[in-house]
This record gives sequence, C-alpha cells and structure tokens, in this order.
Amino acid sequence: MTVKPVSAPELTTAPGAVELAALGKRYGDAAAVDDVTLSFASGSFVAILGPSGCGKSTLLGMIGGFVPPDTGDIRIGGRSVVAMPPERRPTAMVFQTLALFPHLSTAGNIAFGMRGRGLSRAQVRARTAELLELVQLPEFGKRRISQLSGGQRQRVAIARALAVEPAVLLLDEPLSALDAQMRRSMQLELRAIQQRTGTTFVYVTHDQHEAMSMADRIVIMRSGRVEQHGSPQEIYTRPETPFVAGFLGDANVVSGDSDLAAVLRRLVPADCWAVRPEHVQLVDPGDPRAQVSGTVARATFYGQTVRYEVTAGLPDPLVVVRPGDEPVRADGERVGLVLDAERITGLPGAS
Ligand code: ADP
Repeated sequence: MTVKPVSAPELTTAPGAVELAALGKRYGDAAAVDDVTLSFASGSFVAILGPSGCGKSTLLGMIGGFVPPDTGDIRIGGRSVVAMPPERRPTAMVFQTLALFPHLSTAGNIAFGMRGRGLSRAQVRARTAELLELVQLPEFGKRRISQLSGGQRQRVAIARALAVEPAVLLLDEPLSALDAQMRRSMQLELRAIQQRTGTTFVYVTHDQHEAMSMADRIVIMRSGRVEQHGSPQEIYTRPETPFVAGFLGDANVVSGDSDLAAVLRRLVPADCWAVRPEHVQLVDPGDPRAQVSGTVARATFYGQTVRYEVTAGLPDPLVVVRPGDEPVRADGERVGLVLDAERITGLPGAS
C-alpha cells in the first residue's frame, strides 16, 4: 500500500476530495437529507454526527452509491460519481453488520475484495499480508472468522474494504457492537490506520465522544440538514446553535430573564448563551469575584472531577464541573459563580 502524506492538499481534484452539492433525498413527504452542500479535503477523517433519524446513513449511502439522491451532485476527486454504481466509485463501505464471509479465512476475506482486479496470486498474497499488518493481525491470516473476537472481526472488515484501495472509506457506526473498552481501543486504531493510509474516512456516528476523539472535521446533522461543521475544537468552543451546544459536549443553554442571564448579557451581548460546565468557577458567596450566587443542589465526586448541579434561578440547575483537587462543596451550600466572557458563547436564540 502506498502511504500518502497525512497533510493532504485541499484541492478538490485530489483523489479523496469529496464535494456534495445541494444533495437531497426524500422518502414520501419527509426529507431524509435536505439540500446538503459540503466538501471534505482528501485525507481527512470526517465524522457525520447527529441523533438517530437525522439522515446520516442516507447521506453516507448516497456517497457510496447505495441510495440514489433525488437532487444534487456528488464529486470525488473532482469527478461526478452520482450516476455510477457503487462498484465503479472510488469508495468502499464498512457496514455496521460487517458482512464478513464466515466460510472464508481472515486472509480469504481480505483477498476477496481484490478479485477481478487483474492482480496475480503473488500480488494478492503480498497485499493481503500488508493489510493484515496494517490492521495488526499479521498472525491471523489462516484463522476462520468464527475464531476471531469482535474487535478482530472489525479489523478484518476494515482491511477488506481497504483492499480495493478506495480513495474514500465510508463507515456506518462500525464499532456499535463492541463493548466500551474495545470501542475506545478501536477508535485509536482506526485513527492510526486512517493516518497511515491517507484515505479519506467518512464515519457516521451518534456518539459525540467517538466523533471528537477521531475526526479532523465534524458535521453535525439535524433533521436532514447540516447544523454546523468544522473542527471538533471549533464546534466545541464556538457552537452556532443551541442544538449544537447541547449535542457536542455538555452545555448549559441559558435564555430568558434571570440574574445569571443579566450577567451573561453584560459579558456577551445576546439573548441566549452556551456555558460549558467546566467554564464556571465556584467561589464563596462573599468573594468579590462572585457575579451571581446559587445553591449546590447535588455534588457528585468522580475522582478527577466533581460534577455540581447548582440552582441559580433558572428553570434547570446549572451543571458545573470542577477539578477533583479543589475543595468539594456540599449539597445545600451557598456558592458564588464566576463566569468569563472569553468562554461564553452567544447563540442566535433557543429553538
Ligand atoms: P440516521 O442514519 O441519522 O439514523 P437515516 O438516514 O437512517 O438516519 O434516516 C433518515 C430518515 O429517513 C429517517 O426518518 C428514516 O426513517 C428515513 N428513512 C431512511 N431510509 C428509509 C427508507 N428506505 N424508506 C423510508 N424512509 C427511510
């Protein structure tokens, strides 16, 4: 396998560059994907994130050629692929179910994807060995699929998809069947595989932690539309809508009239704000830094952090997370809240 540079060019003609233009798909009266225009740089790891039913799989299916769009165009490497069947597109898909062949060995599954591509047996063998190495299963070529763990099967499915050297690998919640620990280690591994190959990965998930830990770009979808896209850090620190603020990371979305809203309005002129739990300091109520006061409704000690629910004249308690090495405040204790203008995001209004 050729190893391409990690920092891929932004050019739309680079092999793995993906452009979606006004893409739409309806089922009956409902738009599953509604006027989506986006582009992904070649070699990027893109997570499509959103709640169940927001159109993530439909969007992925359209890129892969499994779902015909009603409107719009899809270009990969600068070329329209919208009229091509899946096997002619420079894409490969890893399905949630993996769809491995149980009667074939690990190597047999990987080599299957290379059939009909005019490769000699020796070439197929060499490339299969390379792929087994890439997914860290060099000793497992002869094993039957039934003799592999869930995580190992996952790697075989990825190796098989990469065997055809796709410019774009599409992954539909591929880790959802794994337990939490295995998921975490596979997330790191997938990221490493993506960086080693330089293939564009488009990864569908409803898990914000998964998206943040792996992706260079996150696309947040809601009801068939793109709500916001950008780097994980951009989206986390500058959410543009209340939905995004609440979906990516925990955020207190504050609106309406209250003492806290008055403080926020002075700091950041807006009518609605996102306040991250870790961006609120707790001090004694008499502390000159205190801008507004509240009462600890519940303190939960997690070791590294303490999570507080603080009643502060809002319909819901304000969630505050502090480092575990700060003095822990007790339930019922009065506290002063300190907010920092630099770390508050004004939002266009609750929806
Ligand atoms: P997600 O992957 O975000 O969970 P989907 O893309 O699967 O969402 O679905 C988006 C919307 O389109 C949902 O309301 C879903 O019920 C609908 N939908 C998806 N596929 C079909 C289909 N084949 N027929 C009818 N409705 C569909």
